[in-house]
Amino acid sequence: MINRLSWAEDEIQSLKDNGLYNQIRTISSPQGAWLVVDDKKVLNFCSNNYLGLANHPKMIAAVKKVVDAYGVGPGAVRSIAGTMEVHLELEKRLAEFKGVEAVVSFQSGFTANLATIPCLVGKEDGILSDELNHASIIDGCRLSGGTIIRFNHADVNDLEAKILENQGNYRRLLAITDGVFSMDGDLAPLDKIYDVTSKYDVMLMVDDAHGEGVVGKGGRGIVDHFGLHGKVDIEVGTMSKAFGVMGGMVAGNAKLIEWIRQRGRPFIFSSALTPADVAACLTAVNLLEESTELVDRLWANGNYFKAEMKKLGFDTGVSQTPITPVMLGDAKLAKEFSKELFDEGVFAMALGFPTVPVGKARIRVMISATHTQNDLDLCLKAFQKVGKKLSVI
Ligand SMILES: *Cc1c(COP(=O)(O)O)cnc(C)c1O
Repeated sequence: MINRLSWAEDEIQSLKDNGLYNQIRTISSPQGAWLVVDDKKVLNFCSNNYLGLANHPKMIAAVKKVVDAYGVGPGAVRSIAGTMEVHLELEKRLAEFKGVEAVVSFQSGFTANLATIPCLVGKEDGILSDELNHASIIDGCRLSGGTIIRFNHADVNDLEAKILENQGNYRRLLAITDGVFSMDGDLAPLDKIYDVTSKYDVMLMVDDAHGEGVVGKGGRGIVDHFGLHGKVDIEVGTMSKAFGVMGGMVAGNAKLIEWIRQRGRPFIFSSALTPADVAACLTAVNLLEESTELVDRLWANGNYFKAEMKKLGFDTGVSQTPITPVMLGDAKLAKEFSKELFDEGVFAMALGFPTVPVGKARIRVMISATHTQNDLDLCLKAFQKVGKKLSVI
């Protein structure tokens, strides 16, 4: 090992010594209810592909068609020569779907946050951020140079107290929350958050990555769920989860969107989404608008699974969505549980510290519309067997 780089080996070894090293599994099948993982066929409860669109025939057909017409690469950033007709069409369709004034698309939800937050606030400003917000929100806040003021998770009283404490100290205040919190599957109390932020004229942003295509009417998102159209200033979302593709979106007030097109750094300094991604995202919007069948099935599957798990005696936490955490407490137990499930042919992730707080380790079961009744029952059987073996139930 070259001496000046030996620290990397030490860091990796230290992860391994502390049980924090991530063994990354390899998938050798399309995404779906069943996967081939490390050469083993297993039932998949790990993906964010909530509606099964990642491998939907209509999505694949749309991509093939657009590749023939437009090729594979965008060739440039959006602000130079990378804005193709399909990008504008997608943004228009997304704005209609979500019932907002305007939308701008990004390469990912992560870059959407890195673009948006520094456009809204700078070093003279304060950001009120839910303590459990996603890493890309935290990184966007740091990039902005604004002062980060954390409020207790989903705690509107604490948010109000922090606004009152900080009101006079900054040029502007911005409150940011995840819409659906992916570790627990709970929803931000966005209606109550809006009451507080509007009372003090604080800007409000929600990152609805896990709500897009899942919550609200036909998957229109958390703003639709709470009937807050035109009230939440800016909504960040992703097309990499329920939409089954890749890409981010920022939806909301037309002036803010126009400003982000001028100054959002990943918009001006990173190449546009590929035509194939855009065509697939457009098809996802069409499918969601045509029918609520997939969204309805996702919720029916989630509700069935959660109810049956409770009957078996498992603790599924505070989930209000198809994301089902199975609370186990001890990180070692969660890892062991996940391994036993895998041996039973069920692929579900164990989450421990630092992803979730110490003592709150769990298995997270990601339910999808593509799971059949038989798939769900197989999973329940495996949970029952492993739960008894490890004395959890
Ligand atoms: C997954 C996620 C993102 C990142 O989205 P990508 O499109 O995968 O980059 C951003 N915010 C939240 C809250 C997420 O859950």
